[in-house]
Amino acid sequence: TPGPIGRSVIPIVNKLQDIFAQLGSSSTIDLPQVAVVGSHSSGKSSVLEALVGRDFLPRGSDICTRRPLVLKLVHFTRKQDASAGDMEEWGEFLHIPGNRFYDFSEIRREILAETDREAGGNKGVSDKQIHLIIFSPNVLNIILVDLPGITKVPVGDQPNDIEARIRTIILSYIKHETCIILAVSPANADLSNSDALQMARIVDPDGSRTIGVITKLDIMDKCTDARNFLLGNVIPLRLGYVGVVNRSQQDINLNRSIKDALANEETFFRRQPVYHGLSHCCGIPKLAKKLNQILVQHIRAVLPGLKSRINSQLVAVAKEHAAYGDVVESKAGQGEKLLNILTKYCEAFTSMIEGKNEELSTA
Ligand code: GDP
Ligand code: MG
Repeated sequence: TPGPIGRSVIPIVNKLQDIFAQLGSSSTIDLPQVAVVGSHSSGKSSVLEALVGRDFLPRGSDICTRRPLVLKLVHFTRKQDASAGDMEEWGEFLHIPGNRFYDFSEIRREILAETDREAGGNKGVSDKQIHLIIFSPNVLNIILVDLPGITKVPVGDQPNDIEARIRTIILSYIKHETCIILAVSPANADLSNSDALQMARIVDPDGSRTIGVITKLDIMDKCTDARNFLLGNVIPLRLGYVGVVNRSQQDINLNRSIKDALANEETFFRRQPVYHGLSHCCGIPKLAKKLNQILVQHIRAVLPGLKSRINSQLVAVAKEHAAYGDVVESKAGQGEKLLNILTKYCEAFTSMIEGKNEELSTA
């Protein structure tokens, strides 16, 4: 399997980052953000979790995601920090700095608690972000955003204009040209009424950064299927659709693992002849693959700009170097040159202190 989001891209990005580090350049690659949009309970948090490959997000049939969760994945290997101990992966919240969560179910509890602190305990929704950073050797440096889902009828403490408020929150993320939109629609509802696709179309009318994700293929009505939709015959999308089967509420209650869920999804598609021949757009691994391809394309597109930035940095350094006199290639020669510069600098400094010279000069 291609693994979770980004795994196949990690070596490329690491290599580039190594090159930048060697050049002493501060340039890095800013990968696009990925945000999930859709109606309440469509399976957005489930999809994000499956992409990350860890269980840590609140999910459920009740309204769970009530504040935007900005999830920063940071690629981290132990050699950089011996104090990381035996644990390879952990999470940290911006609101509790320095506190490492090695137990991912505790991360979920903290997201729920922090949601309640800001949005109250009675289904309220807030636009104030929760920032979670996950450090792991298995992730790419990327930002994923889990957003509250669209609801129409106010419940609990929700104000009358709850739908408009949630739409405003969602738009504030997906309006950015660099945001990749995962438009999540459940297959057991009328897909042509999809809130996700409707929202995505507002900010990305030609569909150049929207991937359609169709969840709940396993609980569609008998004798119906999402084949035509997946093929883009109903609402075309340039980046296409991926159909997935996430864990059901029963699976959640039974604490079913992501690994089991992926195996279950694979079995589902194998047993449904109607999806045979559509394997390129069925399953979480295919969604991860699609995202990785988009990320690689993005890296390709930004490389020329990075190259010219590094080139001009090199030119500037070479100029500065030339200002110090002849170019010396050998290490010993460079050391001597540096010593010369320092000696001159010290002389100038001494004479300045002694009041002989007003100005410091390296010339
Ligand atoms: P969100 O509100 O959009 O973030 O949706 P969640 O990820 O919290 O999921 C809402 C509910 O739908 C949970 O009970 C999930 O178990 C269930 N669910 C999500 N995706 C699927 C799916 O593909 N198949 C089935 N059977 N249930 C799903
Ligand atoms: Mg959610």
